[in-house]
Amino acid sequence: MSKLTEIFGSNVFNDAVMRERLPKTTYKAIKKTIDDGLSLDPSIADIVAEAMMNWAVDKGATHFTHWFQPLTSITAEKHDSFISPTSDGNIILEFSGKELIKGEPDASSFPSGGIRDTSEARGYTAWDCTSPAFIKDGTLCIPTAFCAYNGEALDKKTPLLRSMEALSIQALRVLKLLGNTSTKRVITTVGPEQEYFLIDKKLYDQRNDLLFTGRTLFGAMPPKGQELDDHYFGVLKDKVSVFMKEVDEELWKLGILAKTKHNEVAPAQHELAPIFTTTNIATDHNQLTMEIMKKVALRNNMVCLLHEKPFAGINGSGKHNNWSMATDDGINLLEPGHTPHDNEIFLVFLTAVIKAVDEYAELLRVAAANPGNDHRLGANEAPPAIISIFVGDQLQDILEQLENGNATSSKSTSKLKIGVTTLPPLPKDATDRNRTSPFAFTGNKFEFRMVPSSASIAAPNFTLNTIVAETLCQVAERLEKATDITVEVQNILTETVKNHKRVIYNGNGYSDEWITEAKRRGLPNIKTTVESIKALIDEKNLALMEKHAVLSRVEMQSRYEISLENYTKVVNIEALTTIQIAKREILPAAIKFATKMAESINTIYSTGSGADTSVQTDLLLEVSALTASLKKNILILEESVTKTASLQVDPYEQAYTYRFDVFEKMSLVRAAADRLETLVDKALWPFPTYGDLLFKL
Ligand code: ADP
Ligand code: MG
Repeated sequence: MSKLTEIFGSNVFNDAVMRERLPKTTYKAIKKTIDDGLSLDPSIADIVAEAMMNWAVDKGATHFTHWFQPLTSITAEKHDSFISPTSDGNIILEFSGKELIKGEPDASSFPSGGIRDTSEARGYTAWDCTSPAFIKDGTLCIPTAFCAYNGEALDKKTPLLRSMEALSIQALRVLKLLGNTSTKRVITTVGPEQEYFLIDKKLYDQRNDLLFTGRTLFGAMPPKGQELDDHYFGVLKDKVSVFMKEVDEELWKLGILAKTKHNEVAPAQHELAPIFTTTNIATDHNQLTMEIMKKVALRNNMVCLLHEKPFAGINGSGKHNNWSMATDDGINLLEPGHTPHDNEIFLVFLTAVIKAVDEYAELLRVAAANPGNDHRLGANEAPPAIISIFVGDQLQDILEQLENGNATSSKSTSKLKIGVTTLPPLPKDATDRNRTSPFAFTGNKFEFRMVPSSASIAAPNFTLNTIVAETLCQVAERLEKATDITVEVQNILTETVKNHKRVIYNGNGYSDEWITEAKRRGLPNIKTTVESIKALIDEKNLALMEKHAVLSRVEMQSRYEISLENYTKVVNIEALTTIQIAKREILPAAIKFATKMAESINTIYSTGSGADTSVQTDLLLEVSALTASLKKNILILEESVTKTASLQVDPYEQAYTYRFDVFEKMSLVRAAADRLETLVDKALWPFPTYGDLLFKL
């Protein structure tokens, strides 16, 4: 066995380990739960728990934890050791089925958005056996869902699991009606491509903005940015290469299918992509990936920045959420095949996605919203905030045929000709890449590209699962009533294309024409996180989530409040950090520089030499004017934060004021400070510049 196959999954309580360590009947019972989505037989929990503990202890673990994903941007864990005292003063190792299935973390310090008062601190974690347990830092980690005393979800996993069930139910209905009787379950799959920056730890430590907010709040553009396109896919620096290798190994041990790594567009930016798996496991794996990237970076004296926009003026980071649906017997329902025009199942599922994205664009938008992403979506960087779908030439042609009746042909995707006889002919993909589309069909999956780099991918995926469950449900209802299924399928396809073609756009999503055109088509263009959050309490969306039992009205309301509170807190921290750095670091540096100029002028003057002091005078005047403007803008910002923080208004209005008052005023402070950076002596500047951070690794 090669080293790689040996380490892969070595820290995971996976299928092979279970088969080896569990009695046959127990193994079969748990497999049924995992593979067929049946409920768990509690009587087997004790046996599984013991096997799990023994396996973990054999691997050096001493503790276990219920690992969960509260409504923050991180995962949570509380460690308990396996030890239990005996009467003779010794210990035995114990881990019961009860401890495996259920945990009771004091939940009062996690956000609940009013679901749970602090006085009712009880929260429960429940074992999710569909995502395998693993060992991390000597602790057996058990993936769990997290809920309140009355069962309301306080986490990201619960709605995701619910949405997978919802989609499976509706997809099965449709498949049966279309003649597929062999499929027992439909799963949703995702492969998230993770972007990130790596910077030097010593430089990072000198920047309080990075420390407190994850992004730079100051920084003039260096002479060189990303304009030469010399970083994308470029040769890896040794340090980066070592980092990536270590990350890969750590991820492989956890059974994470880390596959592709490369340099990204911006200097110091990189990407890691795994091979896709079910949406639930992929979501857990992505959380672990982010955690491990941060840890391994630190080990190598670097810091991994996952923020969506660490540097103004330089490309930010996102996650490309590659999503599809597959049957338990291995058919990708979004695989067009060679002649998509007569692939009925593909067309039904494809158009169901198109309709879902058009009808629930606002929900998808909020699923990709966080404060960091506001610097990307709809701002100076793409993808735009408008949700549209790219389908490519071949499907565009088929959809146009469908709009007018039957689709009778598929444009061929012939071989690519490179014009060199020694090179092999390459099969041409059905779609070219359109990097400007927020939701692109890329061969046999949709790539949702708005997803924030630092956030969990749970929300984008449970949203996708649920909105598509709904449109599939509508298809099923019509087909169940139809006398002639074939005719009705045709009607549905034609109608769906007619009614929803407005969401399809194959052109340049970054262009101004598209903004105008999208407006004409009536597509929403929601530019800010705060505004997007409204969708969480929109009646249409509440009804949808309730109908498919993914999130109740109370749970949606709580997420609405948590999202607003989170936005408010993030901008408040950013504003306070801006003020502190400007006052205590930048102002003193500017004054020092101005003093130096004044001293120089005085010295020269006192020599009576008559030497020219005009340069010093110009600099002194310019720096003094900017310093005054900086001071004035700090005061304006301070006033705005103080006022906004104490506003007695509903959470929406407060968040809105943070966005359109506090946030705007932060940029005034920054503008003056960044201009000062270009004038003040580099030796006096209080922290590393963009040039240092981006190019000196
Ligand atoms: P790209 O052309 O975008 O580089 P890749 O084939 O490299 O496409 O895939 C990008 C990501 O999409 C990978 O994480 C891959 O595993 C994932 N992916 C591929 N097929 C599917 C699918 N059917 N469902 C979900 N994700 C998929
Ligand atoms: Mg891609």
